Amino acid sequence: MESSPFDAWITNDDELVSLLGQEWQRQTSTLQLIASENFASPAVMAATGSVLTNKYAEGYPGRRYYGGNQIVDEVEDLARRRLTALFGADHANVQPHSGANANVAVYQALLETGDTILAMRLDQGGHLTHGSPASMTSKAWHFVSYGVTPRNDDPENPGEHIDFDNVRDLALEHRPKLIVAGATAYARRIDPAPFREIADEVGALLMFDSAHVAGLIAGGAHPNPVPYADVVTFTTHKTLRGPRGGAILARAEYAKKIDSAVFPGQQGGPLENTIAAKAVSFREAALPSFSTYAEQIVANARAFATALADHGFRLVSGGTENHMVLLDLRDFDAELTGKEAQEVLDRAGITTNRNTIPDDPRSPFITSGLRVGTAAQTTAGMREREFTQVADLMARALRGRADEATVSAVRADVAELCASFNPYATFVR
Ligand SMILES: *Cc1c(COP(=O)(O)O)cnc(C)c1O
Repeated sequence: MESSPFDAWITNDDELVSLLGQEWQRQTSTLQLIASENFASPAVMAATGSVLTNKYAEGYPGRRYYGGNQIVDEVEDLARRRLTALFGADHANVQPHSGANANVAVYQALLETGDTILAMRLDQGGHLTHGSPASMTSKAWHFVSYGVTPRNDDPENPGEHIDFDNVRDLALEHRPKLIVAGATAYARRIDPAPFREIADEVGALLMFDSAHVAGLIAGGAHPNPVPYADVVTFTTHKTLRGPRGGAILARAEYAKKIDSAVFPGQQGGPLENTIAAKAVSFREAALPSFSTYAEQIVANARAFATALADHGFRLVSGGTENHMVLLDLRDFDAELTGKEAQEVLDRAGITTNRNTIPDDPRSPFITSGLRVGTAAQTTAGMREREFTQVADLMARALRGRADEATVSAVRADVAELCASFNPYATFVR
């Protein structure tokens, strides 16, 4: 396929062209360290901008409500086939518009409103859809929350790992109908086996929310939850490096319920252009080069964490086993909040997000933590050496934050580093 034949048309719209140009510049001249972001391939972006955006396709392949869906059916089937093969699952639903939609659809499919769900607490690393008071999920279902073990200064046993005794005790006490594994700010591997054991012990279903680590699973750098979980949800745009969206994998016995919960339960017409882009990314994730990519993401995070610790940042949970590093800023500088660190780094051309850390004394708007990830800049070709440099740049900007000249000098060094790492250079046509 030619990359978009319609690109030239955008040039009629000066205001938007200017904004797109500015955003291109921002993405390629500053460091993208947000753990949930990535650079999608030109093929993924071309499919997202394809003619499939024109088609209404309510329903599923072979069971559509409108005509003209013969080809769209093949597109969606292709995406589903590639996805079930990638993870070894019975059934795939590729229609969720986002990870949040995928999670809510699963709750709707498997539970009655008011049923009990056991999931990770937001301030311990869980996601909003795991029962945060701010999310509608907490109004429709009854959530009980588990957390991580207490912080420990013994390097052999650093604490802040998922507390499986806590998970089991709460499961026995509250008899949840569903247990949710998976997190949004947690730097450790999440072993699905103990979750399955506990779910079996109390007769609960198990959902694994692998939004962050889906790409690591596809690339063999994180355990695959599919053999253990009844349902696996994920986003397609984080480590998996596809278009923005969600997907659900399910055991055959839940396939029908899941499909009905997504449509008509939650959503209207699917975004078949996005589904085509998902199909592109599932094919890319099945290539041997994607395993190399996933391994490099993890190796980079390890090197990044070591270099950051050398600069005096405390690593929450004592380190990392995935693409993410969660920093407690208080040891580096007791006065520095997550909010201020994010703002200073933004001025230095380093894009991150503030994050609560377990038992954070500061509010979720201020925080004592910072979350960084390696997936995007690894796509751009950076390796351990560059991530060590990035840690130096971060420490320099934050230590010298009162001096605008220091921050500007870091920004110039960041731009120079980024100039050698084009995010799209590693994609072959
Ligand atoms: C990102 C994320 C989601 C939600 O994904 P959206 O596409 O932003 O709705 C759900 N669960 C977890 C664990 C996540 O990290």
